[in-house]
Amino acid sequence: MDRNCLNVDLSKGYPVGSDIEYECGVCGDALASMPVCSVACKCRNVIIDVDAGRVAIKDNSKLKARVIAT
Ligand SMILES: [Zn+2]
Repeated sequence: MDRNCLNVDLSKGYPVGSDIEYECGVCGDALASMPVCSVACKCRNVIIDVDAGRVAIKDNSKLKARVIAT
């Protein structure tokens, strides 16, 4: 397991931050957790809707959140 991976606790909501990104375990796309405009991964398992201020994830078990190394 990548040591930069966060333990995603869904009961507390999804972690967001300028230094946090999500990685879809299905297609492998990485998405910023605070994008400027709405984004989705290639397979649309992970959708970040900026206008609605929410993160929509179809399969939570396939989501990884990690701290971007600076
Ligand atoms: Zn995907």
